[in-house]
Amino acid sequence: MEHCSFCGRSSREVSLLINGLHGCICNECAEQAYQIVKEQMQNSATASKRKGSSAKDFDWSRLPKPTQIKAHLDEYVIGQDDAKRYLSVAVYNHYKRLGQSVDDDGVEIEKSNVIMVGPTGTGKTLMARTIAKMLDVPFTIVDATVFTEAGYVGEDVESILTRLLQVADYNLEAAQRGIVFVDEIDKIARKSDNPSITRDVSGEGVQQGLLKMLEGTMVNVPPKGGRKHPEQDFIHVDTRNILFICGGAFDGIERKIAQRLNTHVVGYNSVENVRRIDRNDLMKYITPQDLKSFGLIPEIIGRLPVLTYLNQLDRQALRAILTEPKNSIIRQQQKLFAMDNIKVTFDDDALEYMVDKAVEYKLGARGLRSIVEAVMMSPQFELPSSGKKEYRVTLEYTRAQVEKANLALQ
Ligand code: ADP
Repeated sequence: MEHCSFCGRSSREVSLLINGLHGCICNECAEQAYQIVKEQMQNSATASKRKGSSAKDFDWSRLPKPTQIKAHLDEYVIGQDDAKRYLSVAVYNHYKRLGQSVDDDGVEIEKSNVIMVGPTGTGKTLMARTIAKMLDVPFTIVDATVFTEAGYVGEDVESILTRLLQVADYNLEAAQRGIVFVDEIDKIARKSDNPSITRDVSGEGVQQGLLKMLEGTMVNVPPKGGRKHPEQDFIHVDTRNILFICGGAFDGIERKIAQRLNTHVVGYNSVENVRRIDRNDLMKYITPQDLKSFGLIPEIIGRLPVLTYLNQLDRQALRAILTEPKNSIIRQQQKLFAMDNIKVTFDDDALEYMVDKAVEYKLGARGLRSIVEAVMMSPQFELPSSGKKEYRVTLEYTRAQVEKANLALQ
């Protein structure tokens, strides 16, 4: 009787036995062999991919100059000039740092993580995302609110790096030069300026966890399957060269700024100072001290040396956002219809009306998209099968649609 040369079982014990020249293999062993081959092939493919990309080191001399970075941002982000300049310089310096040679004069350029303060929906994420895309580096957005101190329910701070690895397709070298956008950093502020004696699970503890990562350290990140495969080794990620851009609305920080300015202007030449302060735009006077009063621990503030702010978008900015950015909401709509060979145009007064509604409902830039979607709902439904080649969005139509939708938007 014939036996499987791998497991030794006889033809009666297995459902299929394949004969070879000098032996046999049963169906189960054949399947197992196939799995082994598949895994081996995959491993060697990723290994060679990794080798390829590490050999081609990041060429920082080809990095765009700050003015070029800003010009690129201008194509996608409306206004926010100050923030754009700060960010362009910070990113440029960061990548210069990656290219610095270790041997020479003992001068070591330190990391320049960024913190952007500004109301939600003013372009913080958009800006970070646009830069990452331009530089073609792995980029991930994490929400600081999901983190808790290690050991509590919620995500550990290390999960930031798991995500970065995922978007980098587990290319460690690439991930270690990536950009992480930490949103809502203000939400992990201490509730009060005084260190509390009770535990502040989501506040200071998380800030401490984040701190290590911001300054640059080796972090052990669980591999692909998370903790489900304890036999796999941890991946050691060096965060020294990861650029962290933090963003937060810091609601009410203007009050802190005002307080500080008021206490400062008491003194000689105070009259002059008072006159120079622009009460309507206190944000531009923001300093690290204000972040501290808000509840960020000084160590974190120290690790985010580049501080910049974003303005609330005014009506004019909202109007520009509709049509000017390279991938503006209106252009996106036109592209959608162009795929059906339909040319869609928007009357100017229709666009103005949409902006008015966004302002009226205090919806900001995020609301513009909802309004455009509501207006374009019926055309999107009907036009593709109508045979029409052109379509014009008028003021009357827009008004009717907005009123009909009664925009139950928050
Ligand atoms: P946040 O400041 O809360 O991170 P986002 O960057 O996510 O805001 O902005 C939300 C959306 O609003 C963006 O996807 C973009 O469409 C639009 N938007 C916000 N600000 C701007 C801006 N300054 N220029 C162009 N579009 C903007």
